Amino acid sequence: MPKDIERTLITGQQIARRVAELAEQIARTYEGMDQNRLTLVPILSGSMIFAADLIRQLPMKMKIGLMAVSSYPGMSVTSRGPKLRQQLDVNVAGRHVLVVDDILDTGQTLGLVLEELGARKPASLRTCVLLRKAGRAPQGFVPDFVGFDIEDVFVVGYGLDYNDRYRSEPDIGVLRAGIWRPRQAACTTS
Ligand code: 5GP
Ligand code: MG
Repeated sequence: MPKDIERTLITGQQIARRVAELAEQIARTYEGMDQNRLTLVPILSGSMIFAADLIRQLPMKMKIGLMAVSSYPGMSVTSRGPKLRQQLDVNVAGRHVLVVDDILDTGQTLGLVLEELGARKPASLRTCVLLRKAGRAPQGFVPDFVGFDIEDVFVVGYGLDYNDRYRSEPDIGVLRAGIWRPRQAACTTS
């Protein structure tokens, strides 16, 4: 574990087990539907590794469409508001769309994505997130598939970055406070 990571929150093994369970749940949900009409939409860049693992566990046929949204540019650990960096490049009208994202925090990113995709008249629109931060998204905003509920901390690893680092870590961990804010400020008690 790199020294900048304060503690491991979820191990790679735990993630692998949960991804397999999520895939089963997703496969069951789409079982009765016309499976030829499924389009998976991973939200770049944070969900790449999760989406790659999830796709390899899904037994059905699917198209993949990519969208890129960023809300934590560079060295920020609080959302600056989501910006659409790359628009979806496939037609999803009449198709069953499953959006895949790394983490649901305030819900602004998925809100933006769902607005964009909803306007394209999909047959259905569902969401799958690996992580959900407790108590941050507005009530009533409930993803269809959730991997893990976590506390409100800044996490990295398994595709999630801080200033482009830690994406390749197999575990998900909490970034040490001193890395992203001055130690002095981190120790202030007033
Ligand atoms: P939201 O728009 O729901 O507030 O934030 C969602 C997006 O912000 C996620 O897709 C992710 O890219 C980024 N994000 C939110 N929380 C974290 C975090 O703890 N760590 C990292 N690396 N990214 C985060
Ligand atoms: Mg993201």
